[in-house]
Amino acid sequence: MARYTGPVCRLCRRAGEKLFLKGTRCYTDKCPVARRNVPPGQHGVSRRKLSDYGLHLREKQKARWTYGVLERQFRKTFERAAKSPGVTGERLLQLLELRLDNVVYRLGLASSRPEARQLVRHGHFQVNGHKVDIPSYQVREGDVVEVRPKSRDLAKFQALRESPVGPTVPDWLSADLENLRGKVLRAPKREEIDSGLHEQLIVEYYSR
Ligand code: SF4
Repeated sequence: MARYTGPVCRLCRRAGEKLFLKGTRCYTDKCPVARRNVPPGQHGVSRRKLSDYGLHLREKQKARWTYGVLERQFRKTFERAAKSPGVTGERLLQLLELRLDNVVYRLGLASSRPEARQLVRHGHFQVNGHKVDIPSYQVREGDVVEVRPKSRDLAKFQALRESPVGPTVPDWLSADLENLRGKVLRAPKREEIDSGLHEQLIVEYYSR
């Protein structure tokens, strides 16, 4: 399946909550969900209640849209989570949080996950001194994520030094915006992941 390239605010309206896909606009009054939270489409307001299956499907889709992951890749991540020790749902969220594009966003080096994904794809980042341009790259405890030296002078990154973007940096990461870098201190705990997702519904969706 191809990557969704349509209007991203539509995804938030479909999910019924903010997924923070559009950078700084998400934190202003211009956010359509903040203004009038109705599902998209002509019959959006009058849509009937979701079935049990619909609820499970919606939660899975919400997670995919939030982290910008395709269906097949998401299923693979779920299978990896199911095979690893620990609670599957929690492990799934951990694996999603430890994606390089998400870490770049969490460190405040990009204003949204879609932007982080693009910056990583364009080769602006390195992990432990080596260029990595794969957004799904899984970072580990102790990894240092930073803007590559040749990209540091770009206006985008210079502006970051003066006015940081995005939400506050979580405790499992340490950010050094002055030097455009950050470190993964450890894997995130469940209570530190503020994605608003009900991971148990996703586990139940794949266990049908
Ligand atoms: Fe659009 Fe951001 Fe609001 Fe979502 S949270 S509807 S992406 S402005």
